[in-house]
Amino acid sequence: MKIETELNADDRQLLAEAVEGFVPPVVRDVHGHVLEPSGYAPGTLARHLEGRRLAPSTYRAAMDLLLPGRRLAEAVLFPFPARQHDRAAVNRWMFDELAAAPEGGGESDHGLAIVGPADDPRALEPGFASGRCRGLKPYHFYVPRADTSQVGVEDFAPEWMWELCDRHGAILMLHLMRDAAVDDAGNREALRRLSAKYPRCQAVLAHIGRAFNQRTARGLARLADRPNLWVDTSAITEAESFRCALETFGPRRILFGSDYPISHLRGRCVTVGTQFLWVYPETTGATRMTLVGIESLLALREACTQLRLGADDIQAIFHDNTGRLLDHFRAQP
Ligand SMILES: [Zn+2]
Repeated sequence: MKIETELNADDRQLLAEAVEGFVPPVVRDVHGHVLEPSGYAPGTLARHLEGRRLAPSTYRAAMDLLLPGRRLAEAVLFPFPARQHDRAAVNRWMFDELAAAPEGGGESDHGLAIVGPADDPRALEPGFASGRCRGLKPYHFYVPRADTSQVGVEDFAPEWMWELCDRHGAILMLHLMRDAAVDDAGNREALRRLSAKYPRCQAVLAHIGRAFNQRTARGLARLADRPNLWVDTSAITEAESFRCALETFGPRRILFGSDYPISHLRGRCVTVGTQFLWVYPETTGATRMTLVGIESLLALREACTQLRLGADDIQAIFHDNTGRLLDHFRAQP
């Protein structure tokens, strides 16, 4: 697999079909990754990421490929998670990079700290108080179990994370686990309870509540009344997942997310039975796949077209909603 830096003729045609007359001129991206490989233990990064340094500036340059002619106003970025790495060091690197970025970067991009359940909240407090850290990105890799595929919400995002984000109106970026993800009753119970107890914590369910399997998106219906739950579009390539999210959460709580650098790999994630399957040229032999980010835009456009969304709704998804999400943040508790 390879992080693409150029488009072929097929990509350009599909990208034009995705973007023209659909994506507004100014965009905010709520879900992008950066990477500083020296903080990672050997063998814990996928081969296409090994040794790669993806700074906020790398991310910005790469997004021109996916959003041609559009201005990226603001992005929410966080380090790429791995099973073993020095979280404090990679967070520090990212926040320093963001602070040093030139016009169009530092002022307008925001970082979330990657966190594990056993981390010390007191170490995170100064970043929130200064406004350098705008939220938290927990991940199942940091739960000390051999198999983390079935962990519950509080296993990887315990109550202290919700409490800290609540105090600051900050973002809690959640990647749900368990086979049914947002359609899992235990996950939904935890999300309902914690979002009610911590109403200023802005919890973003990444990947439409991890509805890579389009059938699991139906679980969103039972969370849609919680105003501080949002979903992001990152890396979803099934139009049905987007349609379900639009019908339940509505177009004001769906946030465009690229999932860079995943967006720049060739592939697609598809529903198979009660699972999902990532397909890539290298694993299937398919020779004319396009980028995940292009597939995701095409699927989002298809869902928006089916539901006859208007220009204001599209503007909300690509720009305004992430602005409202960020507006909740207050540097001082
Ligand atoms: Zn991601």
